[in-house]
Amino acid sequence: MTNKPTPSRQPLTVELQALDSAHFLHPFTDHQGLAAKGARIITRADGVHVWDSEGHQILDAMSGLWCVNAGYGRRELAEAAYRQMLELPYYNSFFQTTTEPAVRLAARLSELAPPVGGRRFSHVFFSSSGSESNDTNVRLVRRYWDLMGQPRRKVIISRINAYHGSTMAGASLGGMSGMHAQGDLPLPDITHIQQPYWYGLSQPGESRDDFGLRAARWLEDKILEVGPERVGAFIAEPVQGAGGVIIPPDSYWPEVQRIVDQYGILLIADEVICGFGRLGHWFGYEKFGIRPDLVTFAKGVTSGYQPLGGTLINERIAQVMVEKGGEFTHGYTYSGHPVACAVALANLDILEREDLPGRVRNDTGPYLAQRFGELAEHPLVGIAESCGFVAGLALVQDKASRKPFAPELGVGMLCRNHCFNNGLVMRAVGDRMIVAPPLIMDREQIDQMIALIRLALDRTLADLR
Ligand code: PLP
Repeated sequence: MTNKPTPSRQPLTVELQALDSAHFLHPFTDHQGLAAKGARIITRADGVHVWDSEGHQILDAMSGLWCVNAGYGRRELAEAAYRQMLELPYYNSFFQTTTEPAVRLAARLSELAPPVGGRRFSHVFFSSSGSESNDTNVRLVRRYWDLMGQPRRKVIISRINAYHGSTMAGASLGGMSGMHAQGDLPLPDITHIQQPYWYGLSQPGESRDDFGLRAARWLEDKILEVGPERVGAFIAEPVQGAGGVIIPPDSYWPEVQRIVDQYGILLIADEVICGFGRLGHWFGYEKFGIRPDLVTFAKGVTSGYQPLGGTLINERIAQVMVEKGGEFTHGYTYSGHPVACAVALANLDILEREDLPGRVRNDTGPYLAQRFGELAEHPLVGIAESCGFVAGLALVQDKASRKPFAPELGVGMLCRNHCFNNGLVMRAVGDRMIVAPPLIMDREQIDQMIALIRLALDRTLADLR
């Protein structure tokens, strides 16, 4: 199917849309819809904005895919990549070799990640993405329990609506029914519990904290159902991102920590979104006071300027892997890619120098919370909440009873399209509308974003009347 050009479109747009439609199988895209409309072609970016091939300026309130933490247009990241490419564009880290950027980044991340329970994150395993890192985690968990003489501990518990990547293991760890429906997922030994979504799942009159305890105990119920001797790990994001920005009640994480401790289960914090300042801390586990054994990272580590991911490994686990494990038969061609690592180091310089985590924690995050919270007054909005620089609101048919819209109305998509047409990238997860702006977004830009969201809400409401 080809895309019909219209006279208003620039020749470049027309050409690229036709080629795109003919040759590019996109991630998470309905290609019939794409062919009818033509892809929006993003051509350049600066600060918190991107521009398309038709010259429209768009406020990118999603930081690309939750990754451009330092904002667009950072010359020093381009220069770091350029310098490293001239010096050493590639070498691997297999078979007892290494490169300086990879070593320095591993050491720096180990230094940056606060210890938990007096134990450091002594080691890092690198990959090129969050998905690969979560695949690595499955192998690490199995290997660890084998080495500990408990090979039956293979089951990993995750949560419904979680997103942990698109590889077979990543998609299985994730709890997205649409993904599981394609290709007979999840893989064996991966199982899911409900998400701690107070607004959507609590009982009438149930306080946030009571619900948080109940939601955490779904983990205990699942452990007992599976058999504690078979459970290897629990994986979760500190704040679930792609699942709709689900901010857990304060009571949730302490109870989860109690449960994993009691049953001796490893805790994997997937910080692919939450890490590198997004929640106002270097890592989300600091904010919630949890003690993970493994920490998945990607995205913000390079602000998306290079593909890089990895796992921070607590010394409790690393010690066993290093001292008892012999060769870990796992690795990627691009594990510790020198250019990606050089860019990550330069990106960490920016985050540190500008104290972006501190700025989100003490200044712009609280301001976003105040301004975003005001959206709850809108007739369509049931709840509007944020945590650091992630925020989500629920569109509902009836605010008093929290009655949702019928899914076939596609109200979230309607609202998302109004955002897009008005120059704002905001994402719809069902009828939850979410943002995760670049951490450099200032108060004035927050005001602009809120005004654009309000406009989209008004237009959505008008459509529904
Ligand atoms: N984990 C989380 C929490 C994510 O949000 C994502 C991507 O959005 C992933 C893992 C997968 O990362 P990637 O797309 O880099 O494979």
